[in-house]
Amino acid sequence: MFGVNMRLLVGILTALILLAFLLIALWTGLRLWLHRRSLRRSTEDEQRRRFRPDGTPYPPRAEGICDRCGRVGKDVFHLPDGGRLCPICFEETI
Ligand SMILES: [Zn+2]
Repeated sequence: MFGVNMRLLVGILTALILLAFLLIALWTGLRLWLHRRSLRRSTEDEQRRRFRPDGTPYPPRAEGICDRCGRVGKDVFHLPDGGRLCPICFEETI
């Protein structure tokens, strides 16, 4: 009787350990998948921020005052010819 109980106990413990490993593997896989998804999304956001939909890069942007509408913003484009345009005026002129 004792031998049977021990074998049952060892079997249950083995099953629990295997289940724990399986759960850890699933958890790690899930975290890896979420991390990769978030990385891909942030790369796409950065790409969208730096390049226009047609693939040409935006001019450098910094804080400033728009030459056309006078709006103050943190994302004002500093054009190569020295002009400064806010994103709204920039989209209207191009
Ligand atoms: Zn403007």
